Order: sequence, then structure tokens, then C-alpha cells
Amino acid sequence: MSSDANLNNVTLEQIVSLCKRRGFVYQSAEIYSGLNGVYDFGPLGTQLKQNIKNAWTKALNTGEQDVVFMDGAILGAQAVWQASGHADNFSDPLVDCQNCKKRFRADDINLEKPCPSCGIKKWTDIRQFKLMFETNLGAVSDNANIAYLRPETAQSIFINFKNVMSSTKVKIPFGIAQIGKAFRNEITPKQFLFRMREFEQMEMEFFCQEKDANNFFETWVEKRLNFYKKIGLDMSKIRTRVHEKDELAHYSKNCTDVEYNFPFGWKELEGIAYRGNFDLSQHSKFSGKDLSVFDDETKESYMPHVVECSVGVDRLFLTILFDAYTQDTVEGETRVSLRLHPSIAPVTAAILPLSKNLSENSIKIYENLKQKNFKVQHDESGSIGKRYRRQDEIGTPVCITYDFDSLNDNQVTIRDRDSLKQERISIDQIENYLNNILNK
Ligand code: ATP
Repeated sequence: MSSDANLNNVTLEQIVSLCKRRGFVYQSAEIYSGLNGVYDFGPLGTQLKQNIKNAWTKALNTGEQDVVFMDGAILGAQAVWQASGHADNFSDPLVDCQNCKKRFRADDINLEKPCPSCGIKKWTDIRQFKLMFETNLGAVSDNANIAYLRPETAQSIFINFKNVMSSTKVKIPFGIAQIGKAFRNEITPKQFLFRMREFEQMEMEFFCQEKDANNFFETWVEKRLNFYKKIGLDMSKIRTRVHEKDELAHYSKNCTDVEYNFPFGWKELEGIAYRGNFDLSQHSKFSGKDLSVFDDETKESYMPHVVECSVGVDRLFLTILFDAYTQDTVEGETRVSLRLHPSIAPVTAAILPLSKNLSENSIKIYENLKQKNFKVQHDESGSIGKRYRRQDEIGTPVCITYDFDSLNDNQVTIRDRDSLKQERISIDQIENYLNNILNK
């Protein structure tokens, strides 16, 4: 019935086209010819994103270590970004082609060679291009009113570290996690959701004593790899890359990237970094507020050390789509399917009446599952084959068909997206079945 012809020669164009066609992602302001590096998410994309965030949150709440959550502001005070070093240092090297006026990140191209766009070699000098978006608070535009759209969520965790400690029961070691928007004025946004100007991050800062930091660093690298395995990524396309000493920021003691083998090469998916106590020390120094912690045992104060895990929601979204995209041949026809893990798939099950005459009964099943918060669709239009294809393409793990026999035996046929196996189960077993695949 099926032949696994594919094996993942998926291109970026195929993903972009699927995303648009099925309502995952649209170019922002498309009807006004688009805003470069900015995207809007449609109904299925919004659900997929939500599922990614839920899976990440669940993976942090394993019970072994305390992790609490916060939701910081997007507008950031100038002083915060001065203390963090971003105001002065968060920039990329920029170079322009004097002939065609195209801009490039200087570290993206070979300046010994002509411009890849027009073929002429006439470069400007390299300049530092600031990546933070700057704005002004209130009506008066002067230096004192400058604020920045945050380029990462982490700093709001550091500046609230003391608030969280004194308003909750957490004790070192513990983590503060946050999911939220970040903005970077990337010189050349590219590869769709890989490099955007507005994106979302999932970050966790884990605070601990210096003596425990290396152990926690190793633990978190392992936990994060387990997360990628759990959400179904092909682990042969995941690797870790330890940063060389000369790549590390001066305060950073260790950094490991989790990389994925994209069609455009191995690239960073997540960064895991041991940041020493740089951030808390800087904010103590710049704000004049002591962010150190008193140790009840030694009766001394110390500045906690930090292990950070940081991944982009959108970059992971793109990774998941690349990983799941499959083309095979079913009954002589090419079909596209997304082999998404059930916990990630935007629709868990589609309820399909074999004939429109049966829809009164199939809608009852659908309504009941929806009421219990299962993510389900009811689809009665077109041939059953067409409806299967539509669901395969958006990654729905199972289709549940209500046919004429169902009227008598109270059973439905469950069809599995990947194996195409069909089995008959009783209607009152559907919930169990779905819960089982969701918790796989
Ligand atoms: P890169 O080297 O790719 O520019 P980075 O090292 O600057 O990334 P970090 O500052 O470590 O990235 O950000 C943490 C994570 O946030 C990245 O691993 C990535 O998943 C995500 N991320 C960073 N920049 C972008 C962007 N412009 N668009 C989408 N996701 C991003």
C-alpha cells in the first residue's frame, strides 16, 4: 500500500508553500507586498506553536529541579541594556556593495570576491550595525527617553531575580523560565523562520552555586537533548557543538549549541551556556542593588552562577516541519504528510463520516471530543481519499471514520497516518486511544 520513497529531500520552498497553503504561516503584510523578516501565524501555525510551547514547559517541570515561570515586558529600559552590554556590543559587522547597494553581514560573505548579487567587487568598509530596535517613550524624543525592544528575554529574568526569590518559596538551585517575543534588526533576515526580525524565544536561566554549575550545565545539555527526542525529532539530524574558547564571550565559561541538519547545513537550534555570574554582577553594579544571596550554611553572601538554555520557538517550528515533511506513494499517488509527534500536531484526530448521511452521528463524536479539549476537526467534504490526504498534509496522526456499520456495532475505523494501518475500535474507546498516543 505504501512505499517510503521520500526520505527527506525537502526544500525550503516546499515548506514555505505548505505553510501558506494550509494556514501555518503567512508573510506579514503580504497584501502590501510584505514586511521583510516578519511573519504572521495562521490557525494551524498558532496551534502548532502553542503545542511546542506546552511541550517545552512540560519538559522543564520534571520535578527534579524547581523551575518557575515569568512574563517580562517587551519594552526595556536603557539602563538594563547598558548593564548587559547589549547597548554597546550587540551588533553585527555590516558591509555594502557600492555598485548595487545590497547589504550583507560581513561574516556571511567572502570580501575577497565580487558581490554575489551584481558580480562587481566594490565593497564599503565594514561597519558595526546595531541589532537592537530603539524607540522613545512618551512625546519627547531625547536621550533620556530611549527604550529598546528586547533582543532576548533573558535580561528581564535577571533583573527580576531578587523579586522572584523574595516573593516565592524557591531556593537556590532553581530556574526561572520565560517564553516571549524578542526583536533583532537582522541585516539579512533569511531562510524563512530561521532568521527573523521579530521572533519568540523560550529561555530558562538556572541559578546555582559556582561549585555545582558544571554539573548542572551537563545535566541541562542532556535534558534538552531528551526533549528533542521526546517531541519526535530524528536524532541523527541533531548534534551538539561545543564552542571553542575563542568563540566564548569573555564571561562565558562553557557553551554548547544544539545543532540541526537543515537543508542549508548544520545550524544552531538552541544555545546552552554557562554564563558564570556575569549578568547578576553587572546588574548589581549598574543598579546599585545587591543581587547576591545569603547562604544559611556558610553565613556568607555569594553571587549565584547561571546556566542558560535558549531556543527560538519559530526556529524550532521550522525544524519540526523540516523533520516531519515526508513524501511517499500511496495507491499510485504521491502524498505529502507531516509525521508530527501527536503531542505537537495541531489536530490530533479528524472525524470523517463515510457519507454525508452519517454526519449527524459523526458530529456527536466530534462535539464530545472537542468538549473534552481534544484538538479535533470534522470533515465531510470530498472523497474519503481526498480527506485523508488533507489531514496527512497537516500532520493529523489519526483519522476516525464513521461508516454504515458504525450505526449497528458502535465502532469506528481508526487510520494511522504513518503506517496507514486501519483498526476498528468501539466509540467509547476513542478518548483512551487519543490519550495514549498523546502521551507516547
Ligand atoms: P545566530 O548565531 O543564529 O544569530 P545567536 O547565537 O545570536 O544565533 P542567541 O542569541 O543564542 O542566538 O539566541 C538564542 C536562540 O534564539 C537561538 O538559538 C535561536 O533558536 C533563536 N534566535 C536567535 N536569533 C533569531 C532570529 N533572528 N530568528 C529566529 N530565531 C532566532
